[in-house]
Amino acid sequence: MPTPDPGPRGTDRWQHVARAAGLLDADGTVRPTIFAEMSALAARTGALNLGQGFPDVDGPASVARAAADAIAAGANQYPPGPGIPALREAIAAHQERRYGLCPDPDSEVLVTAGATEALAATVLALAGPGDEVLTLEPFYDAYAAVIAMAGATHTTAPLRATPDGFRLDAQALAAAFTDRTRLVLLNTPHNPTGAVLTREELAVVADLATRHDALVVTDEVYEHLVLDADRAHVPIATLPGMAERTLTVSSAGKTFSFTGWKIGWVSGPAALVDAVRTVKQFLTYVSGAPFQPAVAFALQDEGVAAWVEGLVASLAHRRDLLCEGLTAAGFTVARPQGTYFVLADAAPLGFDDGARFCRELPALAGVVGVPVGAFTHTGSAADDALRSWVRFTFVKREEVLVEAVARLQALRR
Ligand SMILES: *Cc1c(COP(=O)(O)O)cnc(C)c1O
Repeated sequence: MPTPDPGPRGTDRWQHVARAAGLLDADGTVRPTIFAEMSALAARTGALNLGQGFPDVDGPASVARAAADAIAAGANQYPPGPGIPALREAIAAHQERRYGLCPDPDSEVLVTAGATEALAATVLALAGPGDEVLTLEPFYDAYAAVIAMAGATHTTAPLRATPDGFRLDAQALAAAFTDRTRLVLLNTPHNPTGAVLTREELAVVADLATRHDALVVTDEVYEHLVLDADRAHVPIATLPGMAERTLTVSSAGKTFSFTGWKIGWVSGPAALVDAVRTVKQFLTYVSGAPFQPAVAFALQDEGVAAWVEGLVASLAHRRDLLCEGLTAAGFTVARPQGTYFVLADAAPLGFDDGARFCRELPALAGVVGVPVGAFTHTGSAADDALRSWVRFTFVKREEVLVEAVARLQALRR
């Protein structure tokens, strides 16, 4: 059971964040993130970089043109604090069209600098010292850092590898709740495991959150990237009684392959969105003036919707290609249902340490991945269980993946 640790004060404060993010060595030196280390390794060795998860092909030209047109038309000064009305209306319409949620664009939708700022402002607004923020584990690395910035305590519930991909452990989740759990920071489709949480799994979360009177913050940046026809993205806000205690976060980066634009948003009850806006206005105030109208266009244009469908079909194909290649090379693979990541276990290849394996992989096979340890707390149950696991991305061009798969066969024994 983690004890509440508000961390050091004064000019060592940042070390608390570095430690939470796993970047502080025992002797006090600060390491670069494993993503930076692995990308540098790829650049140095010429290995194919399946570590960092960003697309190597940009999104629709029509959307890029909309941003260029907005610059030419003068959308170059501070936009309104909550985001331009056209984008807030497009977000509200998207939530209604896809999920039957009807946020009021004026009071229940806030535009942010990517999902990252939406999550940071939300945690900073709603949790502090003495409070616990509960996430799944493994978790997106920014969660640990921002929970530390807030001075709150990070608790976790493990996802477990099963023949049906990674799944929620309902018993472990129940055990992770305490009377100090203020926020459940959920993520579905889930990075790094690729799990798309089922309605049944979400009902377990909803029931526990309600019984412990915790709010739910749900990171749904991969909401459109569900890769199996028999799975669907279910926002937890659509479960009975949950809209009133849920803040839903998403962004344009993953859906439209414009990760550098950093247009995100959060929607939910007006009082909660107000709380987030209060903090957000002093983080960035506003951002992305010309990108906001472009994303409003992207959310509503039928041609763009067809492009996203094409992306999903292509990602499903690329997932299959990489999963089959990893399996043939000797890994145990947990087939992802969403996102653009796959987790693979290197233990059958004789490696019990994923970090060491990743450092050796460029020399062994000319490929770079990221150890799942980058997404766990050192020494946790999930950290132990996933010690030999590695994350690879398949959001790279097919010929890159074909070459990576061919190279990985060098690992077969
Ligand atoms: C990429 C990612 C984000 C960050 O989204 P931005 O819109 O780029 O800030 C947040 N959560 C998860 C799980 C992600 O993979």
